[in-house]
Amino acid sequence: MARRRQLYEGKAKILFEGPEPGTLVQYFKDDATAFNAQKKGTITGKGVLNNRISEFLMMKLADINVPTHFIRRLNMREQLIKEVEIIPIEVVVRNIAAGSISQRLGIPEGTRLPRSIIEFYYKNDALNDPIVAEEHITAFGWATPPDMDDIVHLTLRINDFLSGLFLGVGITLVDFKVEFGRLYENEDMRIVLADEISPDNCRLWDSKTNEKMDKDRFRRDLGKIEEAYQEVARRLGILPEAGSRDMKGPETMQ
Ligand code: UDP
Repeated sequence: MARRRQLYEGKAKILFEGPEPGTLVQYFKDDATAFNAQKKGTITGKGVLNNRISEFLMMKLADINVPTHFIRRLNMREQLIKEVEIIPIEVVVRNIAAGSISQRLGIPEGTRLPRSIIEFYYKNDALNDPIVAEEHITAFGWATPPDMDDIVHLTLRINDFLSGLFLGVGITLVDFKVEFGRLYENEDMRIVLADEISPDNCRLWDSKTNEKMDKDRFRRDLGKIEEAYQEVARRLGILPEAGSRDMKGPETMQ
């Protein structure tokens, strides 16, 4: 079978042309980067776990009527998604101070914020994804004011839902990053959740011990990275059927 045409290769994923118009195949790699790709590495089995975790979370979000690009998982490392026009903004939600907000504003890591805070970053590697205000986003036309209303509304719902879901399995959702896209269907345009939601773009702390269960283990050389991602999947009840033995994929199961 001819290999699908590759459209884009990012730091952690590859996008291929999908089987039907308007679809894409999203392939999850084991590659990991941090600090704007200055630190590079491989986390064995990460792609398999993130594929599962993102599938699970996007399906749960669809159940509460959050529109997403996810269609279905194809195999260990690939999922079928709807093609959307990505809005070039990273939307970060913070419940507890960590990472850049702690550094920038001098708030000690672990401080619960007075309320959840949403921040926007302009997706531009050359500029190091600078933080921007909604004013920049609408003035430069990266998104319209109605797009931003939808994005903020959806983001707050995603945060409330995922905070509760993770808390139920003993994990604190400290912060996370999401991306949105425009989905064109007939004459209509809808803002939908895109990209992925996984320990690569969330901060997840064990609720009892505050142990980190996310990419900070890679960023800060804390070790036991594979184990942490696996533990998140295990608590969510979605470890791959054969456990870590089938973590290398891909294996089509259509
Ligand atoms: N994040 C991400 N991609 C980025 C930057 C941040 O997924 O390019 C996530 C990160 O994993 C964390 C949240 O967004 O869950 C907030 O990250 P922060 O601004 O603290 O940046 P960091 O110091 O982690 O680079």
